[in-house]
Amino acid sequence: MNDLDFDCTMCGKCCHGLRLALTVDEARAWLRRGGRVELMCEAIPWPVEPAAENREAQYRRARSFPAASGTLPVRIAVLLVATFDGACPNLGADMRCGIYHERPLVCRIYPAEINPFVVLAPANKGCPPDAWQGTPMIRHGQLIDSEVQASIDQARAASARDVSIKAQLCAALGVEHAALANEGFVTYAPESDVLLAALDATADEMHDKAHDHRHTPATQWNVISNRHETVETLTSVGALAAPPATTHAYGYLGFFAATPAS
Ligand code: SF4
Ligand code: SF4
Repeated sequence: MNDLDFDCTMCGKCCHGLRLALTVDEARAWLRRGGRVELMCEAIPWPVEPAAENREAQYRRARSFPAASGTLPVRIAVLLVATFDGACPNLGADMRCGIYHERPLVCRIYPAEINPFVVLAPANKGCPPDAWQGTPMIRHGQLIDSEVQASIDQARAASARDVSIKAQLCAALGVEHAALANEGFVTYAPESDVLLAALDATADEMHDKAHDHRHTPATQWNVISNRHETVETLTSVGALAAPPATTHAYGYLGFFAATPAS
């Protein structure tokens, strides 16, 4: 990774119209403050277990739970994301965070990356060009700021720890559709009180079994894609695949233009 310098300009862009990935505990706190939280689901085809030395696959494995789509083994990754249009509800008129000392880890980390396999690229960030100068941020591939690094370590630990709760949460809410990974996300937006009650019940139950890391037994998931060729390919290998349906209680965020059946 190239060396980078960075000084936040306090432009506030990262506090506007973004989806903030939250830990389970952060999602509960966000909902209690009256904020909105959605689920973003993706399915990763997992026909065979990767080699132990495949660190990137093992990273994904630790942050997903096993399931099946038809006869195709998959792993399901679920994000809990705070959603808001325009300014974050916690952003003050002076562009300062109103919950600074309790702000989510992702806010403490931005613009650095949590995923160790994603290279930080200024072009992919909302920060203005003049932010990328000044204080040394990365040297020899290492973040200089130990507090940011500690937040990244916490976020990585939480995303692995939260997997069991997310598996149980999906079962409790009847969430069973996911987008094909790297093509987009299926989103669920339950009513806030329903989601908070389900999260509280699931998290409390799992915390009672603090050292029980078993996941929910594999259940059947539907893999959603807006690309006809993807649906055909998945179906040919035994998956339950379909294009996004307007009759279901989910949304679809695709990274690519839809290709309908001809
Ligand atoms: S919680 Fe605070 S730092 Fe995070 S997006 Fe909202 S205003 Fe910005
Ligand atoms: S977008 Fe970048 S420069 Fe602007 S407030 Fe956020 S971290 Fe700072």
